[in-house]
Amino acid sequence: MNTKLSDRVNNMSTSATLAMAAKARELKEAGRDIIGLSLGEPDFTVPEFVKEAAIQAVKDDYHSYTPVDGYGDLKQAIILKFKRDNDLDYKPSQIVVSTGAKQSLANLAQVILNEGDEVLLPAPYWVSYSDISKVSGGIPVEIPTNIDSDFKVTPEALEAAITPRTKMMIYSSPCNPSGSVYSKEELRALADVLVNYPDIIVVSDEIYEHINYVGDHVSMAAFPDMYDRTVTVNGVSKAYSMTGWRIGYIGGPEYIARACNKMQGQVTSGANCIAQRATIAALENSPDKIQYMVDAFKGRRKLILELISDIPGLKANEPDGAFYVFPDVSFYFGKTLNGYDINGAGDFALYLLEHANVATVTGEAFGDPNCIRISYAASEEDIREAMQRIKKALS
Ligand code: PMP
Ligand code: GLU
Repeated sequence: MNTKLSDRVNNMSTSATLAMAAKARELKEAGRDIIGLSLGEPDFTVPEFVKEAAIQAVKDDYHSYTPVDGYGDLKQAIILKFKRDNDLDYKPSQIVVSTGAKQSLANLAQVILNEGDEVLLPAPYWVSYSDISKVSGGIPVEIPTNIDSDFKVTPEALEAAITPRTKMMIYSSPCNPSGSVYSKEELRALADVLVNYPDIIVVSDEIYEHINYVGDHVSMAAFPDMYDRTVTVNGVSKAYSMTGWRIGYIGGPEYIARACNKMQGQVTSGANCIAQRATIAALENSPDKIQYMVDAFKGRRKLILELISDIPGLKANEPDGAFYVFPDVSFYFGKTLNGYDINGAGDFALYLLEHANVATVTGEAFGDPNCIRISYAASEEDIREAMQRIKKALS
């Protein structure tokens, strides 16, 4: 707390994923042999055809400020992608390209929320939803789930969480951190509740869309009765391994897209020109071109689940998408390991960092105090070594 700073930032938490990644990096630089499984960041390089488009853009002298909401031809590629992959029809005026999906989400919170508006967050939820909402005046309202319901929210729980102040709901499917994927029937059941509350805007974060091991991805906005009040968020960070290129985008109601454009125009302007040109190549091509990464993640998922099942006290569900496992570690709460008191998931994650040299993230940051998140966007060798170290540290 620094009184010279605003209440806004003083009341904000630091991103737990980025904080743990920074800590792991620091320890590594100090010579510790840390295996980082804290960050949701693919370890692949950017696909060659995307790199070539970026190189070409540099050679073609792209250098100027870009249109605030994205290049027209990138918007066309996004429109094509939404139609091809999600059966969604958008016009250019409904699309806004941003500096990462994180900015897309921050724009949405800024333009939709007023002070005291409630934001429904089925928990576990991605770490930044809560602080992005709070900094825009919103009040996060968690809807708890647990491992026995595959971390999915039920229509009854959703209905019970709605109040006259509910303004927005944010969820991801495939979910970061649980990996859960809502089926069409499950999403429809949630939509059946939401249709009775037409003032609630739904933000459907589909950034892990392609990293799905069970089949069809379903977009909430593809239900005709949800289209007008759903914003679809996506980006190239995960599927194209372009985390540092910082391109995200939305498709949604025109009045919301216009508002995001206005907000972004005062805060950052248009996203990076070279990265936008590269994103056109990424999206215009078939997702078949990135299937090799999804296949690799699928193999790693199998491996990590096998290794976790061999560690006493860790209870994991089988994630259907993304690249995280979210084991319940509450078995260890109240115990002392190597003189280290484990009073919650935060202690547990720190214990793993100290005694196993493995960086994970506490589930508390995702709204679930019983779990930790382990990213398996890492080499098989690192996954094997990390799980062996964890097993030893807990034995
Ligand atoms: N949503 C989810 C669920 C995520 O895991 C991430 C990862 N950073 C983001 C949004 C933001 O992605 P980016 O800003 O890299 O596009
Ligand atoms: N989305 C990733 C994660 O959850 C990247 C880090 C971040 O932006 O929070 O680990």
